Amino acid sequence: MEASYHRPTRILIDIKAIEQNIQSCLHYIGDKKMFVVVKADGYGHGAVETAKAALKAGAVGSCVATIDEGILLRKAGIAGPILILGIVDVRYVPILINYQLSITVSSLSWLQQAVKLLKDRERLFIHLKLDTGMGRIGFLNKQEFFQAVALTNAEKGLFLEGIFTHFATADDSDSRYWAEQNNRFKQFVEGLENVPPYIHSSNTASTLWHNSAAIGNTVRFGLGAYGLNPSNISRRLPFSLRPALQLVSKIVQVKQVSHANGIGYGTTYVTKKEEWIGTVPIGYGDGWTRNLQGFSVLVNDEYCPIVGRICMDQCMIRLSSFVPVGTPVTLIGKSKQEQILVEEVAKYAKTNSYEIPCLLSDRIPRYYF
Ligand SMILES: *Cc1c(COP(=O)(O)O)cnc(C)c1O
Repeated sequence: MEASYHRPTRILIDIKAIEQNIQSCLHYIGDKKMFVVVKADGYGHGAVETAKAALKAGAVGSCVATIDEGILLRKAGIAGPILILGIVDVRYVPILINYQLSITVSSLSWLQQAVKLLKDRERLFIHLKLDTGMGRIGFLNKQEFFQAVALTNAEKGLFLEGIFTHFATADDSDSRYWAEQNNRFKQFVEGLENVPPYIHSSNTASTLWHNSAAIGNTVRFGLGAYGLNPSNISRRLPFSLRPALQLVSKIVQVKQVSHANGIGYGTTYVTKKEEWIGTVPIGYGDGWTRNLQGFSVLVNDEYCPIVGRICMDQCMIRLSSFVPVGTPVTLIGKSKQEQILVEEVAKYAKTNSYEIPCLLSDRIPRYYF
């Protein structure tokens, strides 16, 4: 989508906050290394900017979800390993080679086909993925996994860069399932003769709440880098994180509406008396979803409810008194005394703190400071 620069709605990203969150986490994990996860345009924060900040702060590599996300990083000059976390069609092996992208492998047959596509002296960087209980992708079968390891040892064109798994319940206060998965991972990894450089299991939640027990020498840090809590504030953080994203706009029209007037499509809100209504140029076309009707935004440090249905490009708020056109509105982030957290938006929208920034569309320009 085309970014709309000639409109006051914008996202402000505090790159220093991202760097600090990564440094705090690196300090917390001690000797372990870190890949920072920048898939889905860095959870809406900007993949290239985040990956740059991550390497500067001391991370060793980046993770993305797709080949195209990986190519974007390489074209922007991002160094270090770039691991694609998803499964890609084996016919794209030449692209992986061309851009030096590391690939997640979840089956022996994929690896066998990949070998056939490699030319002389080409080297494909592999991370073998184990399904220890997530049920998504990865080897389930130990024998098949060890055959894949053996193939990477036998084939010059294959370099086993990593072995990893992914936890399903790392943010849960009940750690039993997490421990089962960790134990299964341990059993797979223990039997190895040659240990690859990166053994990784922890995402943000597992890094925050299970760091010492988690198997591996590397973590995959995603949400935490952006200063967000994977448990939606329900669990305390072992070190502080600073939210990096602010979503702001300005009021484009202010009007005094008489009693018993409908506001918005379907007139789901009707004024209870004479009321000041402000219009904000953001809507579900920007990823400010319709289920945020009734949530509040900040105007002059005061919480103002979103009234009526959220439209595609605009929404209406109830003001306690007149404010001039052009008055700033904070939808996510700090005003003077008050703050709206992504986690609060997520809770109201009955989702997690990952989905809210991911949904904020390209129509909203991102500014970095
Ligand atoms: C997205 C993802 C991560 C990052 O998770 P966070 O909770 O954001 O830290 C790590 N590993 C895999 C496999 C993922 O898909």
